Amino acid sequence: MNDTNKDMVTNITEAITAVDANETLMYEATTTVKLPSNGLMNPEVTQVTLKRMTIQQTKTLYTSKDPNFLTSLIKGCIVSPVNFSLNDLHPNDVIYLCFMLRYISSPKNLQQRVYCTECNNLYDTEIRIPELKVKYSEYKENLFKVKLEDLNDTVTFKILSEGEIQHCEQIARRRAKQKNLSDEDTTWEILLSKISYMIQSKNGEPFEDFEDKYKFISGLSAFDFESLNKEYTDVTESFGLDRKFISDCPKCGNSDEVEAYIAPDFFRLV
Ligand SMILES: [Zn+2]
Repeated sequence: MNDTNKDMVTNITEAITAVDANETLMYEATTTVKLPSNGLMNPEVTQVTLKRMTIQQTKTLYTSKDPNFLTSLIKGCIVSPVNFSLNDLHPNDVIYLCFMLRYISSPKNLQQRVYCTECNNLYDTEIRIPELKVKYSEYKENLFKVKLEDLNDTVTFKILSEGEIQHCEQIARRRAKQKNLSDEDTTWEILLSKISYMIQSKNGEPFEDFEDKYKFISGLSAFDFESLNKEYTDVTESFGLDRKFISDCPKCGNSDEVEAYIAPDFFRLV
């Protein structure tokens, strides 16, 4: 894998490529952001234009029983492109859009509860979203090669979109239910299903269908399986929002590295 180019790492305020503040009402102003996948998932979608959240959308978060409320919220704040689904993006893009929407929609910094590993103190810390770094994908084509040493085969794989990952989970859960599997085995089934779905060809020959891929993956040595899994993870970790930051405990001064996450009140702005 290539080393990440330094030029591809930037902070969020630099990542905003355009702010259209020429509107009469500021809440109608739009912000255009470049997606971390940078066209890897869909060469035609490299940036998204967002508008700020309204008070009505904030209120919906308190009352909504829709399990997909987060997706609905983001979708509702996307001005362009018009005809695309969040499912076509990479999960790293979706997380990034959540943080960007949070950032442009509220003048308040994000608060997060942190646990001090030195004195066990629980405290609230402020996350300054613009200080988090973003890495952009440098890959031009969504097709990667990996040599499996034990089999002496070269396998190509693609990076899965949000929608494809959800689809794999559904297949795996259905399979697990039929086989009456435990929760732990279901998790394993989901992993097998995702890895099977992502592989495309072996030594240049395409697989017949999903079952053919599943059979191939299930029969791999632990070494080959891990090589494949590692290559996939290396690619997906090479782009996206780096949510890690350093937090200093107000009681003992100890610095802990923490990761910003999307808590239930993430978008509760008022
Ligand atoms: Zn402490």
